[in-house]
Amino acid sequence: MRYNTETHDQAKAQDYLHYLCTELPNRRTGSAENRAATDFFAATVEQFGFRIERSQFSCIDWNSEGATLEVDGKRTRVHVSPYSAGIDVQAPIIRLASLEELASSELHGRIALLAGELVKEQLMPKNFPFYNPEHHREIIAMLEQKKPAALIAATGKDPQMAGGVYPFPLFEDGDFDIPSVYITDVEGERLAALEGRIASLHIDAARIPSTGFNMIARKGNDKTLRLVFCAHIDAKEGTPGALDNAAGIVTLLLLAERLLDYSGEQAVEIAALNGEDYYAASGEIQYLKSSLGAPGDILLAINIDGAGYKDGRTAYSLYGCSDKLTHQLKTIFSGYPDLVEGPEWYQSDHSLFIQQGIPALAFTSDQFDALWSEIAHTPDDQPHLVSIQKLISLSAALHDIVLNADRFLTEGDR
Ligand SMILES: [Zn+2]
Repeated sequence: MRYNTETHDQAKAQDYLHYLCTELPNRRTGSAENRAATDFFAATVEQFGFRIERSQFSCIDWNSEGATLEVDGKRTRVHVSPYSAGIDVQAPIIRLASLEELASSELHGRIALLAGELVKEQLMPKNFPFYNPEHHREIIAMLEQKKPAALIAATGKDPQMAGGVYPFPLFEDGDFDIPSVYITDVEGERLAALEGRIASLHIDAARIPSTGFNMIARKGNDKTLRLVFCAHIDAKEGTPGALDNAAGIVTLLLLAERLLDYSGEQAVEIAALNGEDYYAASGEIQYLKSSLGAPGDILLAINIDGAGYKDGRTAYSLYGCSDKLTHQLKTIFSGYPDLVEGPEWYQSDHSLFIQQGIPALAFTSDQFDALWSEIAHTPDDQPHLVSIQKLISLSAALHDIVLNADRFLTEGDR
């Protein structure tokens, strides 16, 4: 029996959010707190009568005590690129600001200071399967071929890929073996004046083999097309990840409780995916390999990421949905005043399904730009920015999707 009262949901949602962000503020994939978060998700949905698949994968965790750079007797602290290997090296600095300069320079035994067009965007990890532009791969391949002793990236901001942080890490790649640090573009200009001098760079960091889990909860009849509700449970290192994406997980847990007494035929899957903010997206790859099944088995995939921001409304966007499905969903959402249709975006787990040709629906906040350029991936992504009320309302809308799913297909699609 579920106590379906507003106060009950409020208290539950607060508890979940508090637990994830305050008790487990380091939910990076591969960390102990990440495993505690996935265990918590599994134990909670099991209470609501879901069958659970624990899907394990290999990943690396990473530990760093920081880095220092010393030139001309002046020592400064610099940021270590996430997943960088450690090093202790003394070598001359060479500044590179373009692919041409990179191509024509001898880098062996030097520390390369990267600036200009080389540092405009965060470089995609070399083995990242879903999106990897040619010019990123070119820079990485050339660096690997030229083998500098270490790299210093002088960066600005890249809200698209790196969220609100300044400077941003140019490299975040456990498969890229050249040790690296990053500094602001302003510090980079100062350092550029010291080109040719010998620098001492000390990076204290280690990669640690680890494991993570996707937790996939199921109810209903396996033989029907599935509704998949997902949200990523991992967070970037250095952020409690309240909006990105504890809020999404809280919403899934509220939905799971709404389905406590569910005995319908419709197959429902609630998945905590584990790697949206991890360089290798290992949880997502694992899901594709061992949990997704045939794309034709999924009726609709629903992803929540960055939803519930205290200001504005919750924005939904539809991808590859039939006219009938679109109409049905919009009819449901018209009953929820805090839901509004927003622009398409692709930087989250709904892309996984879209790329398989599966109809998808994504929820985020309509204050998307402010959220991603100022808050996401920073220490400021705190629980007080989350509207519990919006998460409760969203979980009710998701519940309506389950209850109305038999209207989503035209005869003959079944
Ligand atoms: Zn996210």
